[in-house]
Amino acid sequence: MDFINSREFAKQLDSQDELNQYRDEFIFPKVNGKEVIYFTGNSLGLQPKSAKIYVDEVMDDWANLAVEGHFYSEKPWWDYHERFCQPLSEIVGAKPTEVGVMNTLTVNLHLLMVSFYQPTAKKYKIICEEKAFPSDQYMFQSQVHFHAKSVGFNPEEAIVEVKKREGENTLRLDDILQKIEEVGDELALVLFGGVNYYTGQVLDMKAITEAGQKQGAYVGWDLAHAAGNIALKLHEWNVDFAAWCSYKYMNSGPGNVSGYFVHEKHHNDNDLPRFAGWYGHNKERRFLMEPKFDPVHGANGWQISNLPILSMAPYLASVEMFAKVGMEKLIKKRNLLTAYLEFILSEIDAEVEGTTFEILTPENQTERGCQLSVYLHGQGRELFNYLMENGVITDWREPNVIRLAPVPFYSSFEDMYDFGQILRKGILK
Ligand SMILES: *Cc1c(COP(=O)(O)O)cnc(C)c1O
Repeated sequence: MDFINSREFAKQLDSQDELNQYRDEFIFPKVNGKEVIYFTGNSLGLQPKSAKIYVDEVMDDWANLAVEGHFYSEKPWWDYHERFCQPLSEIVGAKPTEVGVMNTLTVNLHLLMVSFYQPTAKKYKIICEEKAFPSDQYMFQSQVHFHAKSVGFNPEEAIVEVKKREGENTLRLDDILQKIEEVGDELALVLFGGVNYYTGQVLDMKAITEAGQKQGAYVGWDLAHAAGNIALKLHEWNVDFAAWCSYKYMNSGPGNVSGYFVHEKHHNDNDLPRFAGWYGHNKERRFLMEPKFDPVHGANGWQISNLPILSMAPYLASVEMFAKVGMEKLIKKRNLLTAYLEFILSEIDAEVEGTTFEILTPENQTERGCQLSVYLHGQGRELFNYLMENGVITDWREPNVIRLAPVPFYSSFEDMYDFGQILRKGILK
């Protein structure tokens, strides 16, 4: 499509957008009395109006039913988590029995590593990306430290990072595959971010999963920036496990519960170690208070505790919205919206001497979600501050990068145009 940098053209795209009406389902903060242009749905998604309704429902049931709410509320609490399985499975490309909701992301990855990182003295290495999200780095280091002494391997050699090539912004698939082959028999686990949080690059999860498993390793994915953003086929790709936070693209609210996936091929493997709790126990017999753990045959067998219903309520509201719309429509709009943003940036860049905006994110739509990470040449934090003061919420990463995530659920093409006009003023002033 040939884009035009004009309000009229942007409005025309909005009028043709079949998801346009969903903007009204979300609450936008205001700056100077005006709704903001929101680019940080990759950090904290906006609040859907239905979130409050779902939370109020729990508050009312608690007030009116107290303990009886576990079984007699409109949405009983004792198996509230099962309401997620169908809609969430559609979003991440899984079977309903393969997904669950519990805890928070890093906690879930740790718990899943109890099952899927079982190093031996010969097979103990973890392959991950260079400069992984800090929480993931600390997780790898602490997992390695936890096992190294008792198992007997050198912790200094356990974490193998795949690096970008000199002068390149993103990872090459070939380099990842080659590293996997190189580590070979010593490889215990491959764990990458499916979408890199910094560059927005989408990795070929199918190819990497297959390559890791060929070396006898387990392969897991941190899908913090992937869930609700890109097309996932976790079951089909034969992924061993995955987890994602719900507060980024999935709009569930600050620090909220995490979704996770365990492939069905592991559901009946009683030799897999896991940290157990009563909510992972055979559902029908959970309240018999039996002494021996008998796990649910499914991802819910990894559940541990009684459910945080008040946290789950807004996530359920959001998951149901996603399932109603479907990832396909969101992705279709996402591609057009992000391409339009890219175009707007190039138009403004053309007005200034040299290159101001260097887009770190891959150009190819199959290798990115909605986020564009933009390195600012000759501009700095003042530009970011100027945008904030003018109602454009972006996110700043050192050394000089703004990340822009036009979320298809609630961002409009006119937002992109307005952003361009504000940006233009900020740069040409
Ligand atoms: C946001 C993010 C996290 C956050 O983890 P929490 O445990 O929810 O705080 C972890 N990993 C990646 C890659 C992220 O982008």
